[in-house]
Amino acid sequence: MSQTQEQVPSVIKAEELNSKFKYEISKMPGAEKIMACFQCGTCTADCPIARYSQFYRPRRIARMVQLGLKERLLSDEALWLCSSCFTCVDHCPQGVEIAGIVRVLRNMAVADKAVLPLVYKELATNLMKNGYVYEIPESRRQKRVEMGLPPLPKPNLNDILKIFEVTGSLKLIEKVKTIEKVRS
Ligand code: SF4
Ligand code: SF4
Repeated sequence: MSQTQEQVPSVIKAEELNSKFKYEISKMPGAEKIMACFQCGTCTADCPIARYSQFYRPRRIARMVQLGLKERLLSDEALWLCSSCFTCVDHCPQGVEIAGIVRVLRNMAVADKAVLPLVYKELATNLMKNGYVYEIPESRRQKRVEMGLPPLPKPNLNDILKIFEVTGSLKLIEKVKTIEKVRS
């Protein structure tokens, strides 16, 4: 069950609290200001995903990071519900970048737990194969010509593959277990 679920949060045990986690996270680009969160709730109030999801609450994610609930966070599929719209970043009175923190947590979840929603694996595979995350159909390319738009830039697939290799993403993508559908 998702640990950011609204209705029945399970009791937190003392041994789950990892006091170093917030420092580990705050060294990552985008997550530096996690300790400035004072739990006002603006991010959750304005988050378009929280409005429709019973599991996803950005304020709770910030608090869980501060408390050091690393295992719960990294095992929580709800992390993948964030749409990276950055509304929370724009509205946070403390300058906390929740979207950045979620990105850091997702990267950790893939590295530590080797899990990834299927759709993300497909997007990465498309990128390696075609240079674009979505396949562009011929009809769309033809439409560009008809509208007088320049042709799409030709991606350098060798460079893209190299980036996947040197960052270790290629190995990760090959071994991850996929989540068919994230509950919302
Ligand atoms: S809006 Fe900012 S300060 Fe308020 S709960 Fe969200 S992250 Fe914390
Ligand atoms: S970036 Fe994610 S957490 Fe922030 S408002 Fe958008 S969906 Fe919500």
